[in-house]
Amino acid sequence: TLVVTGATGNLGRLVVENLLDRGVPAADIIATGRSLDRRGALGDRGVQLRAADYADPATLRSAFAGAHRVLLVSGSEPGARVEQHRNAVEAAREAGVELLAYTSIVNADTSTMRLAEDHQATEALLRASGVPFVLLRNGWYTENYTDHLAAVLEHGALFGSAGEGRVNTAPRADYAAAAAAVLTTDGHAGKAYELGGDEAFTLAELAAEISAGSGTPVGYTDLPEADYVRALTGNGVPQVFAEILADADQGLRRGELATTSGDLARLIGRPTVPLKQALNSALNLAR
Ligand code: NDP
Repeated sequence: TLVVTGATGNLGRLVVENLLDRGVPAADIIATGRSLDRRGALGDRGVQLRAADYADPATLRSAFAGAHRVLLVSGSEPGARVEQHRNAVEAAREAGVELLAYTSIVNADTSTMRLAEDHQATEALLRASGVPFVLLRNGWYTENYTDHLAAVLEHGALFGSAGEGRVNTAPRADYAAAAAAVLTTDGHAGKAYELGGDEAFTLAELAAEISAGSGTPVGYTDLPEADYVRALTGNGVPQVFAEILADADQGLRRGELATTSGDLARLIGRPTVPLKQALNSALNLAR
């Protein structure tokens, strides 16, 4: 039995779909999240749905009961996540799982961005737990950029604070395929996979690709960190998230979101989806 947490969210849902596509029987998959009303089509496909809140150990214990392998999708509240993840690791230990896969952040060993702190703390508690675990150190989703194309095209400008830093992105579906691969094949316990797209790009190169794909001239405007925070809050991003995003761009600038490991392509057995292809699909949808 495989448990996929965060299955009401984007990544977890894709992992469940991937497991089904790989031929895992729906009855062997337990999909969890807090808001099961957001489960989308998962219920129709016959997987077991169990409500579980990372903040509520009892719900995690019942959700993980009988599980052999668990995917712990990192929570969405920076600062609160370490305690939440501790509860999930403890529940996995009590369930006696043979493998706990955790979605960490790429370059967690060395990353100094604020977003990495919860992941580093979670990795440490995994190491101390005695539970066999594997680290899926996910890089940036391509969707972090393609989801905002309409606004970028409207302004003819892409704003950021990452300078000439390069980032290796891949669509969520690629990271989900990697998670499904570690849940369904052997030999992953104790490994740390540095996951990212096969190609790296700067935000200026991203702007050039958006221009080429859309026919609308888009330039990259590099802002000092504090100005980028103001630009984000001016666009309705809450202050705390704006600061985290601007800090992450400093990490991008330092190369902390780049990886040449090739782990993602190896795990999924094919090249990662290129930026150009992801942009073209998103531009077609935006038109
Ligand atoms: P989503 O926001 O779409 O999904 C997050 C999932 O986590 C949901 O299913 C949500 O369930 C679940 N979750 C959050 N908090 C809790 C909680 N307290 N108890 C139980 N479940 C919880 O994010 P994505 O699927 O896109 O990304 C997955 C994770 O990856 C994010 O949570 C975040 O940690 C990280 N991330 C990575 C990015 C990257 O570029 N690599 C970008 C953004 C996030 P529900 O809503 O039902 O409670």
